[in-house]
Amino acid sequence: MTMQNPSDKTSQPPPRAVIVTGGSRGIGAAVAFRLAHGGHPVCVNFHADAGAAGRVVERIERDGGCAFAHCADVADEDQVRALFDTCERRYGSLGGLVNNAGILDAQMPLAEMSVARMRRIVDINLLGALICAREAVRRMQRSRGGQGGAIVNVSSMAARYGAPFEYVDYAASKGAIDTLTVGLAREVAADGIRVNAVRPGLIETQIHASGADPGRVARLRTTIPMQRGGLPDEVAAVIVWLLSDASPYTTGALIDVAGGR
Ligand code: NAP
Repeated sequence: MTMQNPSDKTSQPPPRAVIVTGGSRGIGAAVAFRLAHGGHPVCVNFHADAGAAGRVVERIERDGGCAFAHCADVADEDQVRALFDTCERRYGSLGGLVNNAGILDAQMPLAEMSVARMRRIVDINLLGALICAREAVRRMQRSRGGQGGAIVNVSSMAARYGAPFEYVDYAASKGAIDTLTVGLAREVAADGIRVNAVRPGLIETQIHASGADPGRVARLRTTIPMQRGGLPDEVAAVIVWLLSDASPYTTGALIDVAGGR
């Protein structure tokens, strides 16, 4: 997928559109800003907070970029189809997907968890990513008339350490994201689509408050070899690199962005 200097508009085809799920805040918003700065039209997906998504779009437009916000629950097949259709109608051929939308819930051992909670985690974190990846592949596959492209899945370091006593359900959903990344990458490599994942460590976003632990990053700071939490933009930089033509031979990779944790 072409990334170009916004001031050099003569020599290359225009950057293609990218859908960022959960683009309204945190890591997703940082990715949307970077992509728009690189000249990509961006679809900022959100589910609950229209105001936050609107503010991301406003900032992108103020900086001269191109974006729109679209409400869709990634776990709902019809809503995801409508998300992709709307993006293609507005911006033409899709160049990339960032499967970023994700949730966690309050910390507890598995023995205490309700099935409703587990289902919600798996539906949004895993089923949502599968549905979005399927829609992206259908539209980008060269064998179906697409132009190729790139998918980046947002996993977590929890996939490696399992998050015992906190959220094993969340960690398991992210482990499955890693497997999805490796399998799908091999499935579509010859069809012009690269699929990679990033595994963020402890990043300063609002997700920790939703796990009823807003001070989590500060509390665990000393367990991180770099002695600090990460910033959303430090994850976004790697995601945008994986989407770009600067990583043409990288597929099926799982890249830790975790300060050495
Ligand atoms: P965040 O600040 O809580 O943002 C989550 C985003 O997902 C919001 O834009 C939210 O929008 C959206 N979202 C939630 N449910 C959705 C649904 N059903 N459909 C569509 N969008 C939905 O989280 P973050 O920290 O930036 O996390 C982004 C990704 O990074 C997640 O996959 C997370 O698991 C992963 N990650 C984060 C960390 C970390 O330390 N922050 C570490 C490892 C991995 P609405 O509020 O409008 O629904």
